[in-house]
Amino acid sequence: MVDGWQAASVTAHGAEALGPATTTEVADGVFAYVQPDGSWWINNTGFVVGDSVSGGEVVAIDATSTERRTRALLEAIGEVSDRPVRTLVNTHHHGDHTNGNCLFTDAVVVGHRNCRDGVRAQVIGGLDAVFGAVEWGDLQVRPPTLVLDERLDVYVGDRPVELHYIGTPAHTTGDVVAWLPAERVLFAGDLVFNGGTPFVLMGSVLGALDALERVRAFGATTIVPGHGPVCGPEVVDAVAGYLAFVRDIAVDAHAAGVTPLEAARTTDLGEYAQWHDSERLVGNLHRAMAELAGTPRGATIDIFAAFADMLTVNGGPLRCLA
Ligand SMILES: [Zn+2]
Repeated sequence: MVDGWQAASVTAHGAEALGPATTTEVADGVFAYVQPDGSWWINNTGFVVGDSVSGGEVVAIDATSTERRTRALLEAIGEVSDRPVRTLVNTHHHGDHTNGNCLFTDAVVVGHRNCRDGVRAQVIGGLDAVFGAVEWGDLQVRPPTLVLDERLDVYVGDRPVELHYIGTPAHTTGDVVAWLPAERVLFAGDLVFNGGTPFVLMGSVLGALDALERVRAFGATTIVPGHGPVCGPEVVDAVAGYLAFVRDIAVDAHAAGVTPLEAARTTDLGEYAQWHDSERLVGNLHRAMAELAGTPRGATIDIFAAFADMLTVNGGPLRCLA
C-alpha cells in the first residue's frame, strides 16, 4: 500500500497514476465505488439499484470532488442500471463528497441539516495554496434540498436505505451514515478511513470516538468507508485507536503548554506512519486541544491556522492527486 502511493506520487498527478476506480457489488444490488488511493479529495461513493419488479430507481450515496471524477461515477452507475438516480445522499458537506452534486440532474439531494448549511457556505476550488493545482471542472455548488435531523428512510423498491445522523459532531457537524439492515452493509462516510489518516478538524475528537460506537452498534458485516478499500468492522477499531492516540497526545500537550505544531513535531506516529496524509495529525491536535480548552464539539475554530500547520509539517502543499 505504502509502496503503491509512493510510486504514484513520483509518477504523475491524476487518477491515471492511481489506477481506475472500481465498482464492487457488496450485496445484491448494492455497489461500492472505490477510488484509489483514498487520499485528499479522492473519496468513495456507493449506489443501490432496484429491480424491475420492485422499482428500479437508483439511490446514490455521495458525489465526488471534480467534474471528471463525478462523470466517471455516473458512467459506472450507468453500466449497472439504465434507471435514473432519483436520490443522492450526502454523508457530509465536504467538497470531495459534494462538489459533483450538480451533475446528478435527476436527483433530489438529501443530507443532514448541518450538511446543507456546510455545502451552502462552500466554494469549489480556490485551494491551490494548500493542494496545488486541481482540475475541478465546471461545477456549481448544489446543497441538499431535503434535510434530516435524526433519521430518514429512502426506499429502493421494497428495500430501505436508512439514513442516520450519527448523533454528535464527529468528522463534521452533519455526519450521516447509510445503513442497509437486511444486507448488513454500512456506508460510513468519513467516520471511517481505511488506510488513510482520519481527520476530525471540522468536528470533534471525542465526538468521533462516540460516533464509532454508534457505527459499531449497527453490526455491519461490510463497511464502505469514506476513503480506502471496502472493509469489515475491524477497521473501526483501527480508527478508534488512532483517535485515542490523538486524544492522549493532546492531553499531554495541553498539560505541558505546548502548541499543536510542537506536539505533532515530537510525536512518533509508530504504526500510523504508514497511513497516507499523516500531516492531518496536527490538524486533529488543533481540534483536540481546543476541546481540552473548553471549546464545544463542532464549534468554529481557526481552520486556517490548522491548515497552515499541516503545510508546515508536510513541508509544502499537501499531496493531492485529485
Ligand atoms: Zn472525504
